[in-house]
Amino acid sequence: ELTQATFDNIKATDPKIDAFLALNEDAALDQAAKVDAAGIKEDQPLAGIPVAIKDNIVTKDLTTTAASKILTNFNPIYDATVTTKLADAQMITVGKTNMDEFAMGGSTETSAFKQTKNAWDQTKVPGGSSGGSAAAVASGQIVAALGTDTGGSIRQPAAFNGVVGMKPTYGRVSRWGLIAFGSSLDQIGPLTRGVKDNATILSTIAGHDEHDLTSSTQAVPDFAKDLNDATSVKGLRIGLPKEFLADGVDEDVKNAILAAADTYRKLGATVDEVSLPHNKYGVAAYYIIASSEASSNLQRFDGIRYGYRAQDVKNLEDVYVKSRSEGFGDEVKRRIMLGTFSLSAGFYDAYFLKAAKVRTVIINDFKAVLKDHDFIMGPVAPTPAFDLGAEIKDPITMYMNDILTIPVNLAGLPGLSLPAGFSNNLPVGMQLIGRPFDESTLYKAGYAFE
Ligand code: GLN
Repeated sequence: ELTQATFDNIKATDPKIDAFLALNEDAALDQAAKVDAAGIKEDQPLAGIPVAIKDNIVTKDLTTTAASKILTNFNPIYDATVTTKLADAQMITVGKTNMDEFAMGGSTETSAFKQTKNAWDQTKVPGGSSGGSAAAVASGQIVAALGTDTGGSIRQPAAFNGVVGMKPTYGRVSRWGLIAFGSSLDQIGPLTRGVKDNATILSTIAGHDEHDLTSSTQAVPDFAKDLNDATSVKGLRIGLPKEFLADGVDEDVKNAILAAADTYRKLGATVDEVSLPHNKYGVAAYYIIASSEASSNLQRFDGIRYGYRAQDVKNLEDVYVKSRSEGFGDEVKRRIMLGTFSLSAGFYDAYFLKAAKVRTVIINDFKAVLKDHDFIMGPVAPTPAFDLGAEIKDPITMYMNDILTIPVNLAGLPGLSLPAGFSNNLPVGMQLIGRPFDESTLYKAGYAFE
């Protein structure tokens, strides 16, 4: 009944939100019937609960396009590790959510297929790249969805839609079956209405996987277990970087974060001003590193192996050139060119290598602050959701929106985004950034605040 009601609700509401690229109705109802027949055991808190999956995570026999024309009608022959783990927990995959093409963007406007709207105001962007997942959760279509975050793509859409999103520590969750964008930055994580649900899902999808050698062997705690009251933040030391409240950050956003800092003080934590002096170089370094990795990862889309193939071709090279020219959108082509250029002989030292060095400096900034602070707090994005169409023609402005989320990916740290207030009836998000593999502290602090 729950699964059927979920589909009925999605069909009624999605013409307004456009969060979904594909629905999995027959298979989902079948799976739900099986879960029902087997009976739900006490140690299966997620059994029978519908979940949505971002469309860059492969799902067996369910169309997976990464919102790109080049993967039109691509039906994977295997499941990603995270989807297998959700199925093992008896969750029901109801469909695939819209996103920026290959997760490149911050508004879900680079999708080749449709424009998802913000759940609170349909004239605004849902954020991106996991805009479909965030809008689906915020609009009540689903209680949980998976997203992916390379430079902010879980946290920023979560903030724009007033939901909870976790970008786990790099290596916490297996990337096997995730269509790679920036392999040294990508992580999969949950978007949910509340912190406890988020923690439950992260515990389910995390852990070492022999298919992904960058996945960590660190033990995975039951993150939800200790979320019982607000006293757990007592005595914690929180750092608030002055760069996170600098010019360019909206007054309402600043005020929401300052109010959250006061809430933490009232709960018995200390909040002091700290500095991440090299934060401002994060965007430049990221767009070199992420684009370089993407230019390499996207070589596999050649018109032969998957999805779209151009017609009227003269020879093999023509297949490659035409399929890629017709199959990729403008933003993806921009990244491939930028990345190929940064990696090419003669430019490598000036661009890729320099960006890699900047990355180390940014990592060291975080290490210095997190040595004597339990976590860092700040805004997720400088502004709330902006108007549809307002920034899509201006890549630099769009890239600059990522200034507060990108450094966290460069450093591989966990980042939790949660609602912290409103600005003109639009949600404002707060971000908590933790030590490597200390998602627990972030969840405790998020739960205490919520
Ligand atoms: N907005 C950033 C970009 O366009 C981040 C995207 C992401 O995290 N996938 O690259």
